[in-house]
Amino acid sequence: MKKAVVVLSGGLDSTTCMGIAKEKGYSLYPITFHYGQRHNREVEQAKKVAGHYHAPDHRIVNVSFLQQIGGSALTDESIEVRKDGDEDEIPSTYVPARNMIFLALASAYAEVIGAEAIYIGVSAVDYSGYPDCRPEFIKSMSETVNLATKAGTTGENFQIEAPLMHLTKKETIEEGVRLNVPYELTTSCYIGEEVACGECDSCRLRLKGFEEAGKKDPIQYVR
Ligand SMILES: [Zn+2]
Repeated sequence: MKKAVVVLSGGLDSTTCMGIAKEKGYSLYPITFHYGQRHNREVEQAKKVAGHYHAPDHRIVNVSFLQQIGGSALTDESIEVRKDGDEDEIPSTYVPARNMIFLALASAYAEVIGAEAIYIGVSAVDYSGYPDCRPEFIKSMSETVNLATKAGTTGENFQIEAPLMHLTKKETIEEGVRLNVPYELTTSCYIGEEVACGECDSCRLRLKGFEEAGKKDPIQYVR
């Protein structure tokens, strides 16, 4: 069976990618990065999602060295998680070059296990202004990972798949509902408490998506 590495955060988008890759007939090899998030909740939810899909292996890779780089509200407690949603600025939750680092590591893993695709749940539509969610970046990184690996030189190129790239959150949720994606196992809140805050950028985007899709978000919110 052909294999796909799925960059799995335990959030809504990456979990939808699990459903999409499964439908394409891939055996799923999720990889979750623990990068020094303030909370461990994402990793716990990712484990549940991997279990739901009976993934043969789920790698949890510690990249907490990103804390030594800092520069993000998600890796540095002295930087506040923004809740007001200024559309023009790159949010404080942007982690410098995160997707480049994640895809570099995911491609190394893909080479090791002989996977032919790497799935990542980025979207250029509802992307909060993160530069590493743009299609130009994914295209460029696809070329780079093939130039950087043995698999690329032998013609066994991997493909970086970003199936949500041109979908709104609403469309992503519609696709996920069609594929029976277990959204009740996912977490999106930047704050990372047991119950989602409903106020941070990530919660607001998620709630808006469910509302527009006419679906009920199965997770709990404070309000
Ligand atoms: Zn939240």
